Amino acid sequence: MDKKSVKVKCSFCGKEIECPEDMLEGVEKHACFECFDNKKEEFSKMSEEEIGKIHVDMPLGELNEKMAEDLADELVEQEFSKVWSDLKDDLKENSKRELAEEMFWQGACMAAETVLETLRQNAKESMEDEGEDEENAEDEANDDGGGDEEDNSKSR
Ligand SMILES: [Zn+2]
Repeated sequence: MDKKSVKVKCSFCGKEIECPEDMLEGVEKHACFECFDNKKEEFSKMSEEEIGKIHVDMPLGELNEKMAEDLADELVEQEFSKVWSDLKDDLKENSKRELAEEMFWQGACMAAETVLETLRQNAKESMEDEGEDEENAEDEANDDGGGDEEDNSKSR
């Protein structure tokens, strides 16, 4: 907590930002978060060595928000293209409202499937427990059957 920060100027826009004192020696450039955000493409082309020499003043709150947004973007990109290619042909005649509903429904389905899968798994387990008695009864019925196939009585 008692780490010292020094006021430095963003090497790209000149805005005053803070840099932890112990980072000062290792870096050659400073970037405020806005410049980092605006220049993401430039930064992504740089080598690790170059990036290592740039200090980015990154507010933690914004970072988390960015990460959540990026993750959401990624998910939408993956899932949407799947859903889209499935639906593309049907959608031509649909109105925008129907399209929106369909998309919302697809999203809800994905969430519901996860829940249902859990429920199904639970139901299967409890059915397996109960199932044993029934199976035995059936075997016995077959043994007794001796040609009388219609006799399903499980009395014994
Ligand atoms: Zn800047």
